[in-house]
Amino acid sequence: MDLGIAGRWAVVCAASKGLGKGCAEALVKEGVNVVINSRSQEVLERTASELRALADDVEIKTVAGDITDAAVRTQVLAAAPQVDILINNAGGPPPGDFRDWEPAQWQSALNANMITPIEMIKATVDQMAERGFGRIVNITSSSVKAPIAPLGLSNGARAGLTGFVAGLARQPQLAAHNVTVNNLLPGKFLTERLRNNFEHIAQTSGRTTDEVMSAQQEAIPARRFGSAEEFGLFCAFLCSQPASYFTGQNVLMDGGGYPGTF
Ligand code: NAP
Repeated sequence: MDLGIAGRWAVVCAASKGLGKGCAEALVKEGVNVVINSRSQEVLERTASELRALADDVEIKTVAGDITDAAVRTQVLAAAPQVDILINNAGGPPPGDFRDWEPAQWQSALNANMITPIEMIKATVDQMAERGFGRIVNITSSSVKAPIAPLGLSNGARAGLTGFVAGLARQPQLAAHNVTVNNLLPGKFLTERLRNNFEHIAQTSGRTTDEVMSAQQEAIPARRFGSAEEFGLFCAFLCSQPASYFTGQNVLMDGGGYPGTF
């Protein structure tokens, strides 16, 4: 299928590793120019080199810095001549017990997983509508649909973004101008973050990391973890021309892990 997005410009936040990198790779393979961002300059440049090897005639720009910082967001957006595609992503907040969380921790989670993507959307969406093409994909989490108790900061902040997007995507100023806004909800994808989680669980439960991994894998109907590559391919489809009638949706990609009918 021709996704019809070659030559477009995408901004992919938090993209030196994991799911963000998977999205950048899939877009580059479709001929999309990308600006990628992450905090570590060294890892980011390494990822940019890998992306450059994937396609000819595609520009890859990098902006290192924390995407939750307004000044960094300005630099990231300025690096693209125009933003046709925006992939919002950032690290997830730490687990814990809400009894231990102070307002500062809530502010930090809300900034990373709700306000930062909203600010990125605010800076780009009206120009997308004027040009008659725009695709916004927010990487959120399966926890939006099925909350994970120790991830209360994530459950709360991402639910806020999800509610905002549900209203935004249905504005005729966007939907009638070929601008779509969707959320992609990962279940368990084998990224560095997930591996770190396994190690943490192993240390605190007296099991080995392999035991923790196998137990979690067995609990997924697909009997495997997802890959960043397949996540990226799905994201690229959401960013495609053929996906123009698909907006305001929460797409769960979890190997069948969510047990509900809807
Ligand atoms: P990952 O493998 O740890 O990769 C995270 C990427 O984001 C790295 O490139 C990291 O680079 C960058 N990053 C993190 N915080 C950043 C910030 N403040 N500003 C700029 N870049 C930042 O994580 P992942 O598994 O891809 O997860 C991505 C998102 O999906 C997270 O929010 C996570 O909670 C969510 N999620 C993941 C899964 C899963 O199974 N993997 C499931 C549900 C939800 P630097 O550290 O150099 O900045």
